[in-house]
This record gives sequence, C-alpha cells and structure tokens, in this order.
Amino acid sequence: MGLTIALNRGRILKECLPLLKKAGIEPAEDIDSSRKLVFQSTKGNHRLVIMRGSDVPTYVEYGAADLGIVGKDTLLEYGSASGFYERLDLGIGACRLMTAAPKGVSLDKRSLTVATKFVNITRDYFERQGRQVSIIALSGALEIAPLMNLADCIVDIVDTGNTLKANGLEALEVITRISSRLIVNRASMKTRFDEVEAFIALLKAAL
Ligand code: AMP
Repeated sequence: MGLTIALNRGRILKECLPLLKKAGIEPAEDIDSSRKLVFQSTKGNHRLVIMRGSDVPTYVEYGAADLGIVGKDTLLEYGSASGFYERLDLGIGACRLMTAAPKGVSLDKRSLTVATKFVNITRDYFERQGRQVSIIALSGALEIAPLMNLADCIVDIVDTGNTLKANGLEALEVITRISSRLIVNRASMKTRFDEVEAFIALLKAAL
C-alpha cells in the first residue's frame, strides 16, 4: 500500500492534478467523469481521496490520510494542530483573503458587523487591531450579505475581484495571502519517513 493523500475538491483539485501528474502521480480513472471519491494511482499504489477542503486537515490530523493538499485559508481557519506538519507551499490556488464592502462604505465605524465563512481568521484579524466587530457566520455567497443589510462588510477570498465587482462591492484590506499547502500527518512523517520524503521530493521537483 502506498500513501493516502486527501485532496481538496474544486478549484484546488483542478490545479493540483497537473502538478501531481508532473510528479508521476496519476489517478487510474478520470476523476471528473466519476462519482467515486477514492482513486488508486497508476504508479506507487497511492490512494487519492477527494473531499471538502475543511475536512482535509481533519483526515490528516487523525492519520486517516498520510498527506493532504489544502488551501492555507482552510489551515488558518482550522487553527493550531498538533497532528500534522505543513511541509510545502505548492504555489497553486493563489488568492487573497480580504475585507470587502459596498462601494464607498468605509470600515471606520465603531462597531462593524462582518459576515464570513472564516470566523476564526476574522476574529483574530480584528482582535489584533483592537477593533470591535460582530461576526455573522455564513456558509457561502457572502457577497449578498451587505446588499441585504445583514452585515456592513465581508471577509472573503478574492482572486480577480470580479465576483465582488459584479455585486457592487470593493475589496479593502488584505488580511493574508493564500496558496495551497502540502500537509503531512505527524506519525506518518516518522513511520513512513522514506516514502513521505520521496513523495515531497517528487512534488518539489514538479513545482
Ligand atoms: P474572483 O471573482 O476571481 O475574485 O474569485 C472570487 C471567488 O472565487 C471567491 O468567492 C472564492 O469563493 C472563489 N475563489 C477564487 N480563488 C480561489 C482560491 N484560490 N481558492 C478557493 N476559492 C477561490
């Protein structure tokens, strides 16, 4: 049995498959045209497991997966973990986590209401600045929250800024730059050291 690798489905998966292919790791079946969630690799007998980004750190933390590829935003939101190491910045899935508000609205208000999926990152960001905020947790389509008067502003992922613009919002402050990372289960790092290091070396060479 090779390594088990948890992959963040969606945009990150799309960008990491060519990278894995370059490293010689390819699923035996076409992932896009299958409803399966577990794929064997053609070489190395690795297992590629497709899941929601927010579940990747959990699988790797508990050792159900040896490795994971996931966005830094998800890792920051997951918080400090003792069960895995962040080993590589893959440079893919690059974007920024930003505050955004309707055009012309400033964030200087004394008590802001912020809608976000990234509750922990948002709380830390405003707390570090001593700014008082109320946070409203949403699970998607954050852009509509200010338009519906649910919040003054949002904290969301921005790539081109087109989504914000299309909804009358503008990006304001950069909270952090994001890219996808390779994480490694702490026990796998010890018990499967040679295999894990060989895998990391292949990915590094493919970057
Ligand atoms: P954009 O319109 O290019 O600024 O893209 C913004 C939207 O696409 C956001 O609402 C995100 O949900 C999504 N998005 C863009 N880049 C990424 C990324 N690297 N990882 C995850 N989601 C992203």
